[in-house]
Amino acid sequence: MYDVIVVGVGGMGSAAAYHLATRGARVLALEQFDIPHELGSSHGLSRIIRLAYWEHPAYVPLVRRAYDLWRDLERDAREPLLVVTGSIDAGPEGSVNVVGARAACAAFGLPHDELDSDALTARFPGYRPPAESVAIYQPDGGLLRPEACITAHVSLARSRGAVIHSRERVVEWHADGRGVRVRTNDTSYAAERLVLAAGPWTGTLVRSAAPALAPERQVMLWTEPIRPALFEVGAFPVFYILVPEGPFYGFPNHDDRGFKIGKYHHRRERVDPDTMDRTCGAEDEAVLRGAVARYFPDANGTTLAMKTCLFTNTPDEHFVIDRMPGAPQVAIAAGFSGHGFKFCSVVGEILADLALDGGTRHDISLFRLARLPIAFQ
Ligand SMILES: Cc1cc2nc3c(=O)[nH]c(=O)nc-3n(C[C@H](O)[C@H](O)[C@H](O)COP(=O)(O)OP(=O)(O)OC[C@H]3O[C@@H](n4cnc5c(N)ncnc54)[C@H](O)[C@@H]3O)c2cc1C
Repeated sequence: MYDVIVVGVGGMGSAAAYHLATRGARVLALEQFDIPHELGSSHGLSRIIRLAYWEHPAYVPLVRRAYDLWRDLERDAREPLLVVTGSIDAGPEGSVNVVGARAACAAFGLPHDELDSDALTARFPGYRPPAESVAIYQPDGGLLRPEACITAHVSLARSRGAVIHSRERVVEWHADGRGVRVRTNDTSYAAERLVLAAGPWTGTLVRSAAPALAPERQVMLWTEPIRPALFEVGAFPVFYILVPEGPFYGFPNHDDRGFKIGKYHHRRERVDPDTMDRTCGAEDEAVLRGAVARYFPDANGTTLAMKTCLFTNTPDEHFVIDRMPGAPQVAIAAGFSGHGFKFCSVVGEILADLALDGGTRHDISLFRLARLPIAFQ
């Protein structure tokens, strides 16, 4: 008998297993694929972390706590996980990310600089934004190494007693009195509490939530910089930039893997994660190449790699972190809508709070299930 079963050992589930095991709980964590793997939402060598959180001010205290927990994890794991590069939020004056990043900096006293288009290029010559752009530069922004983060959480969770199985798929769960029962492709288990951290597959485990948790195909492109010095860590901050073609995000050339770019919501393809096309084609590349050629021309060398990945979008693009209606012994973390990875460390802490204490000191009111158009049976 376990205290807690965690379903899914990706970004969030690995962090939950780590925090639960650290607090002495008997944990079983189940992952349908290898750990880590490239079929979900938490692969591709880098994820942006930034304090200038324009999506909603409620995220800033959480991301501050996330930074502390990532640093603790690095120390425990003796592995570099978070690389500070600075972050750029750029777009036309009045755009949602510029206004929101400026407001977050003001509200939380974050150090930052405002740069017009010429000043941005002068300071970081890899950037050639449209002339009307303004940018908020925040020096604490950076990148996380997602596969290494998952591996660190998992190996430390194991060393603290967690039992973690890969290649075991949960096919069914139900709340059973005050506990839970979980059936997998292999066997079944019982526990007092359940944490659902199934990423894009959450809709298959919580059918009634599926309409509000939409998996979406994404594509990442890595190029060889033509002028590599402009795209080194230290010379090139991570970015989220709004241009006429849409929102793009990207990274310096860290670990010598190339300049990386993606388009937020890529080609707006809602998919089934079990049948999604994971090959990357010319149409995918064209979407990203155009932006490299126009806005980062010195990075527009040969293609080094392309990979698909999955967002899980809620209608308002805020997360779901809650206990299940009618089953308070079940906590759910899902719908991270393309911006969740940086929070894995603190979401793991919150999930451990919800599972072991029934509540958390963190303000997660923005992430309630009840705000979504879901009818739970
Ligand atoms: C291209 C791309 C770029 C992104 N960029 C950023 C960024 O820069 N910054 C940022 O903060 N966020 C970013 N995100 C978002 C972030 O990566 C995700 O929000 C986060 O990784 C979600 O983690 P998760 O644990 O919910 O999902 P996952 O990591 O996919 O984990 C879910 C796990 O559950 C397993 N699972 C599912 N069902 C079952 C089952 N029935 N039985 C057993 N196991 C199961 C899956 O196999 C998977 O391993 C990006 C996402 C993508 C796709």
